[in-house]
Amino acid sequence: SGSSLIVSFGEMLIDFVPTVSGVSLAEAPGFLKAPGGAPANVAIAVARLGGKASFVGKLGEDEFGRMLADILKQNGVSDDGILFDQGARTALAFVTLRADGEREFMFYRNPSADMLLKPEELNLDLIRSAKVFHYGSISLIVEPCRSAHLKAMEVAKEAGALLSYDPNLRLPLWPSADEARKQILSIWDKADIVKVSDVELEFLTGSDKVDDETAMKLWRPNFTLLLVTLGEKGSRYYTKKFHGSVDAFHVNTVDTTGAGDSFVGALLCKIVDDPSILEDESKLRKVLTFANACGAITTTKKGAIPALPTEADALALING
Ligand code: ADP
Repeated sequence: SGSSLIVSFGEMLIDFVPTVSGVSLAEAPGFLKAPGGAPANVAIAVARLGGKASFVGKLGEDEFGRMLADILKQNGVSDDGILFDQGARTALAFVTLRADGEREFMFYRNPSADMLLKPEELNLDLIRSAKVFHYGSISLIVEPCRSAHLKAMEVAKEAGALLSYDPNLRLPLWPSADEARKQILSIWDKADIVKVSDVELEFLTGSDKVDDETAMKLWRPNFTLLLVTLGEKGSRYYTKKFHGSVDAFHVNTVDTTGAGDSFVGALLCKIVDDPSILEDESKLRKVLTFANACGAITTTKKGAIPALPTEADALALING
């Protein structure tokens, strides 16, 4: 398609997921290998919707890294931003499916290849060609990956891209909750578009109320759009001129993995085609209805990547 490029920066990894709920991986009768990593999910979400996406990140030169690079390519994501580390291995996540449906993660990051991406390894021409630059690595805190993150953001911004940030908070990965809050908010004044979940909103503000007043505590003058996703309660939006909420779709939810990434991918796809969406509330509401539909559809199948919708899937849900 002739659409402009969305670059998504961060990690891609494999989740080892038990085939039954309520047990750890060690106790499970079997497991599935589910490719994921929020930034990679966003890139694939964009490509599945017909947009142009590139993933920037580092994989291990091992069977898992090769499998992940193939998955990106098979899903129509450009591979010119993928790097392979000569020494370190691909990141892995070992998932426990709790009986209440929540997931717990244990990570192989020893360090993993994604954490070793150096600023000088970045394909700067690729990053400069992005109209939207999305980031949200769980390794934001780790050097040299943190410096690569900051450099890529700066280069994209200088070249005129819109910067989109999803903190993807995974608390156990951080030395402390205070450190996580501090590090995440330290790049808060750089982004144009920020998406947080209700859980992240509470965590970052220290408030236990998910309301407009709490959301406004996260607002910064550099923002053009702040989004709060609320699972089956839909999403809220805040801009300089207007704010509101858009209801979720009712679907038969089996696994919420990737819903937020699907939502973000859908939103960015529409924004890259028509940035005036950010200035026009009725256009924005229409786009968020679309993004909510994409998020909802992603919850109806197991795993993230297999559950990401096409444009036709989303329109079918919207038009009932
Ligand atoms: P995250 O994965 O970042 O926590 P959410 O779970 O809030 O994000 O999901 C993103 C969007 O996907 C929501 O705003 C909503 O529109 C849709 N969604 C998520 N879970 C459900 C659900 N159970 N039913 C319907 N829509 C959902």
